Amino acid sequence: MLSTAEALATLLSAASPITGTESIPTLDALNRVLSADVTSPLDVPPMNTSSMDGYAIRTEDLATDGNRRLPVSQRIPAGHAPEPLKPGTAARIFTGATVPPGADAIVMQEQTEAAGNEVTILHNPAPGEWITAQGADIRNGSTILPAGTRLTPQALGLAASVGCAELQVRRRVKVAVFFTGDELTMPGEPLKPGAIYNSNRFTLRGLLEKLGCEVTDYGIVPDKLDATRATLREAAQAHDLILTCGGVSVGEEDHVKPAVEAEGRLSMWQIAMKPGKPLAFGAVRRAAQQTDAAASAETFFIGLPGNPVSSFATFLLFVRPFVLLLAGMQTVAPRALSLRADFTQKKADRRNEFLRARINAAGGLDLFPNQSSAVLTSTVWGDGLIDNPPSHAISAGENVRFIPFSELLN
Ligand code: AMP
Ligand code: MG
Repeated sequence: MLSTAEALATLLSAASPITGTESIPTLDALNRVLSADVTSPLDVPPMNTSSMDGYAIRTEDLATDGNRRLPVSQRIPAGHAPEPLKPGTAARIFTGATVPPGADAIVMQEQTEAAGNEVTILHNPAPGEWITAQGADIRNGSTILPAGTRLTPQALGLAASVGCAELQVRRRVKVAVFFTGDELTMPGEPLKPGAIYNSNRFTLRGLLEKLGCEVTDYGIVPDKLDATRATLREAAQAHDLILTCGGVSVGEEDHVKPAVEAEGRLSMWQIAMKPGKPLAFGAVRRAAQQTDAAASAETFFIGLPGNPVSSFATFLLFVRPFVLLLAGMQTVAPRALSLRADFTQKKADRRNEFLRARINAAGGLDLFPNQSSAVLTSTVWGDGLIDNPPSHAISAGENVRFIPFSELLN
């Protein structure tokens, strides 16, 4: 059996960013991955601005003769270009407006008294007070978002703040999925004896869509070798990854393994983890006539176990980082927290357990009582997974490694 870390390292060493980039409007670029650095063509803010409603002054005018009453020589709303500030005068100024050349501080209006065309300054500002200096946020020429960044709403805002109307992004990762198992029924269909609903179709599609993939869903493929091979051949043409669920155990009803072996190559991994365990990794050949020079000659294949919690956990721990590397991201490891266990858990076997747990009101972790790999309820109840090392008993009060779903679901 492979350790989780060995399996992950082997899997990720096979992934490299897909080729193909496009330029798209910044407004449409949420969740896409940058294929080039974004550098700023300007300083932000582009000029010295006032961060208060008040008066722009020269601090030396207050210091020299102690006169605190200044004539108001101009009025500067935001969006208007000021004149240089005449010595011995103040300029009425508003938040976001350009500080006039010559002024070196803003006095907020609450610390002034206006009378007619004059203002009395009731405060001794330090030079620079309430001025946001040109370039304080971003310097002209600096890299604000490196290639490999996935575009969050705030990253789009940052790109827009330097005037980027378009962004260079990688194309989306194309993933084909299908499901095996003659027992699987779609919600909406009557449930025959021995049948169960195909819940994994919903979970896995949702997970792929959250990662920003373009998904082709072939639905349920009959547990037959020919049908499985035909679907693999078709899916290999126009996708970067084929993901399947179920049928990778060694039962004689499991046709995914021989089908991938016939259409490409396959390694079966027994991973020392719970839930999970079998994971199939390989590739399916693409038909020669459909392969252009730039395209790869094969499509990656990952086969997940069928148990709902197993496929969910193996997706989060293995498929997610693999897909994000294909997507061109640089950092794909989820960040874990160290949190107190408010429960005890017996020593497990030599497998690395991923326990569904929830953060309680005291900031510690509660454990879902049923950790069976068939109990999907635990994945909705939980806030994340405890990464419990092999053969380790958890005692109450001990800190454990907790990976929040918020780190794993995007
Ligand atoms: P398998 O990996 O095909 O041996 O399946 C392991 C278990 O997971 C069996 O109990 C299957 O019925 C169940 N299972 C397989 N695929 C799905 C699916 N798409 N949705 C829900 N349960 C499934
Ligand atoms: Mg099956």
